[in-house]
Amino acid sequence: MKIAIDLGTTYSIVYVVGRGVVLREPSAVAIHLESQRIIAFGEKARGMLGRVPSTIEVVRPLRDGVIAHFEAAREILRHFIQVATEKQWLRRSHIVICVPHGATSVEMDSLRRESQAAGAHRVDLVKEPFAAALGAGLPIDQPCGNLVVDIGGGTTEATAISLNNIVHCESMRMAGNAMDRAIEEHFRTQHHFAIGETTAERIKIEHGSVMAIEPEGMVEVKGLNVRSGVPDLLKVPAGEIREALEPILSQIVEAIRRTIEHLPPELAGDILADGAAMVGGGALLRGWTARLTGALGLPIRIDEDPLMAVTRGLIRILEQRERYADLVLNSEYQPALAG
Ligand code: ADP
Ligand code: MG
Repeated sequence: MKIAIDLGTTYSIVYVVGRGVVLREPSAVAIHLESQRIIAFGEKARGMLGRVPSTIEVVRPLRDGVIAHFEAAREILRHFIQVATEKQWLRRSHIVICVPHGATSVEMDSLRRESQAAGAHRVDLVKEPFAAALGAGLPIDQPCGNLVVDIGGGTTEATAISLNNIVHCESMRMAGNAMDRAIEEHFRTQHHFAIGETTAERIKIEHGSVMAIEPEGMVEVKGLNVRSGVPDLLKVPAGEIREALEPILSQIVEAIRRTIEHLPPELAGDILADGAAMVGGGALLRGWTARLTGALGLPIRIDEDPLMAVTRGLIRILEQRERYADLVLNSEYQPALAG
């Protein structure tokens, strides 16, 4: 049994070779503070956010390219492994898990041990930017510059890779969630109109863009008129959504610029010639190609299914384990056991 686990900042995906995606849920864990007992995972845990007494805390295990809450990360992985293996402990399983690029070796050792204790036969940990780049089809094992930009929910990461090594990575907390908050904030301050997180995300997905798009439509929003205190319907030009996102978009562009500036000239030259690959949910915003070509002179390839790029990269590693052995951290791999 071969399993790939993309532990994302906002969403996690569990894929079983032969069965496909078996789980896609928010990366959230609800913890009962006093007993430190886990009471819910995923969708259920996220649904508790802001709705439960202060004795329960809802945490996201990952943040800013690091493991922010180790216990939660360990428990959610254990949960994923149980879902994937359907508690058939005796089946030989090979699991590939991506970890944030900033995870420490102590954390990784510990995650590997815990995953094995949870029933995995062999556990390979891979730094997320490698999986993202492989999934996007970049030749990262070649002595050339490769740039992958991953705009997720919690973090945006612009990573340059050459010869299976991370040459530079800029990670920042400006991604999908920050965009949702910016849209909420825009309606509140500019229109005295309150909308929820889910509505803000839907507006972003349906109307968000990173460049002006012609013809520009109108956005119809349901929410609460703060002045009258009653539910109301508001219509605004779609361009307002882009303006609300702009502070975040420009920081993303600057992070990409900084990554390129940190590279030796040869690698930077490769990237400016070959371009960058864009993955993660934020890559789906319309207009990235034009925006980045204009701002940085950088050709861009938007992944065909950017939400699945990391998982696709992990599957490649599962399927061609020997070829990608260099990407696996602290490999305990013994070819004799392969299969
Ligand atoms: P992570 O790996 O950090 O969990 P993902 O790559 O799964 O993140 O992306 C999730 C983010 O992508 C969410 O903020 C979601 O709102 C956003 N997203 C999903 N689809 C779109 C879309 N079509 N346009 C813009 N953002 C999107
Ligand atoms: Mg991701």
